[in-house]
Amino acid sequence: MDELIIYKIVLIVMFVTAPIVFLYLLFFPAPYGRYARQGLRMRIPCALGWFVMELPAAMVMLYFFLTGPKLTIVYCFLILWEIHYINRAFIFPLRLPNLFKPMPILIPIMGIIFNIINGYTNGMALTRIYVYPLSWAYDPRFILGSLIFFTGFFINQHADDILLKLRKSNQADYQIPVGGLYRWISCPNYFGEIIEWGGWALATWSLAGFAFFIWTMANLIPRALAHHKWYLKTFAHYPKNRNVLIPIFL
Ligand code: NDP
Repeated sequence: MDELIIYKIVLIVMFVTAPIVFLYLLFFPAPYGRYARQGLRMRIPCALGWFVMELPAAMVMLYFFLTGPKLTIVYCFLILWEIHYINRAFIFPLRLPNLFKPMPILIPIMGIIFNIINGYTNGMALTRIYVYPLSWAYDPRFILGSLIFFTGFFINQHADDILLKLRKSNQADYQIPVGGLYRWISCPNYFGEIIEWGGWALATWSLAGFAFFIWTMANLIPRALAHHKWYLKTFAHYPKNRNVLIPIFL
């Protein structure tokens, strides 16, 4: 089958399945971390889980760039993508306080499938589907999108950092996170991640980037709602004025 047709079919599947995943996750949070279910017996160390599920995204994108046309501007996209995924596959897992905490194997399996598909659509878009002239470097969508991407990245990093330090100070239990955007929302790490991929969608101005943004929201909005509900249920003195995910709005 023609490469372009496969790309289009995969994108349509992504757009159609995102709302289904969103609805499913509203009722059944992904079973890792505080929602890991006892019934899921096959488990691997969580650091290994994060590594194997995030690495394909970095590798698939690299493949498309190594085999695609050598246009200077698209290398900026490669850099943004790899900054995120090198952190997520290599640095984030090593910063986990307990590298061996069991993670149901279902999570890395789903993650690998998603990251291969998403790496494929974004790699195709950037190197085979769209043509980005050098003047894209001065386009407001590229400049603003890249700024939004880095803003989201730093919000995500800072919020994850607060959580990982909390976990280090008390390996056994969850605590109420404080500081940074936790003053206003329960899940600034997810807020940052959503902003990041929103910036990516804008900077690349591609359907593949937009599909990834939609999928990130489909994954993380239900998880943020579940976390917020869990905090309120678990801690009687949890700040009542704290929002779920977006300061003031949600
Ligand atoms: P969580 O916020 O659930 O957990 C992150 C880490 O912090 C875990 O080690 C967790 O421990 C620990 N932690 C969380 N809350 C507390 C607390 N209150 N007290 C002490 N420790 C705590 O994030 P995820 O694991 O879901 O995600 C990790 C990263 O991956 C995030 O940056 C997220 O944005 C990103 N991600 C992106 C997705 C996407 O679709 N793009 C999908 C999923 C994640 P424990 O494991 O014990 O719960």
